[in-house]
Amino acid sequence: MLQLKGLSKHYGRIVALADVDLEVALGETVAVLGPSGSGKSTLLRVIAGLETPDRGSVRWDGADIKGLPVHARQFGLMFQDYALFPHRDVAGNVGFGLRMAHWQPSDIERRIGEVLELVGLAGMEHRRINQLSGGEAQRVALARTLAPAPRLVMLDEPLGSLDRSLRERLIVELGEIFGRIETTVLYVTHDQEEAFTIADRVAVMRDGELVQAATPEDLWAAPAGMFVSDFLGFTNRFPATAIDGQADLGWARVPVDIADGPCQVVLRPDALLVDIAGDIPVTIVGSVFRGDHYLARATTESGAELSISMPTLPHAGERVLIRLDPAGVLALIE
Ligand code: ADP
Repeated sequence: MLQLKGLSKHYGRIVALADVDLEVALGETVAVLGPSGSGKSTLLRVIAGLETPDRGSVRWDGADIKGLPVHARQFGLMFQDYALFPHRDVAGNVGFGLRMAHWQPSDIERRIGEVLELVGLAGMEHRRINQLSGGEAQRVALARTLAPAPRLVMLDEPLGSLDRSLRERLIVELGEIFGRIETTVLYVTHDQEEAFTIADRVAVMRDGELVQAATPEDLWAAPAGMFVSDFLGFTNRFPATAIDGQADLGWARVPVDIADGPCQVVLRPDALLVDIAGDIPVTIVGSVFRGDHYLARATTESGAELSISMPTLPHAGERVLIRLDPAGVLALIE
């Protein structure tokens, strides 16, 4: 088990990590999610031993690993620019770490075969690097990271340079591979969908602080505050005042389970339902196609702007009735 306690790191006046506590259980995949500059890479580099923290500890199974050099930590790291050696073939790249660790040649050959099979590239040992597609190169880099059987695998935006459709396919494959080898994984990304697809738990970072660590389901159900809610893409947010378990949005009253006082009411995508028996009329302003649905912008009669998921193409100017499902209503205080 990986245990981070009170990790802090400054670069001059920049706070890259501020008192980060996190535990990652054996076999667990935790996605570190946050915008650019929130400290995700610094966190990985400190764990890997590439950076020294100002304060705090990194423990593995209870033992502080401060004194262990990078190679002795048995952690595997894969960066976005995974830089394969262009003059070596696939086997030469995948077996690189094993040769450095003085494995026997027969063991290296067997292990290369095993990990190539694992990443779906069985028999590709002698392919040249410049003959690989982007997705294949990414798998070779993953095979190279996994070859020494690291006890912790850390990936920093590993799909960042690939196009969207390939990313969507590879993220599912990565999750399956990590499930099969039951390894412990820290996966850095700024993409919420990627994090939700791969992770057992998601750790959300902001300005060096870890603001919430929870399962995707719990994050969705109860984001810890406005930052997390905004980062999850919940765009329907309205300032309101909670009184006796209700908040008045001007165009609807919604139940909220917080104490009386000012709050922000978030209507998750599942809170707004198009329904001919609905009680809230809205006018469609525009829409974008999202594959399995349309995301429409609409205004209420009082002028509040909403974005609403719709199964069929709505036309600008069209009037539609919606209703609110209280299960998708969140009240946040900060
Ligand atoms: P992320 O991976 O979330 O984009 P980083 O961990 O790379 O964030 O960076 C966190 C903050 O620390 C940023 O403000 C970044 O500019 C700063 N930073 C990171 N590495 C260094 C460094 N070597 N020197 C100075 N500032 C750094």
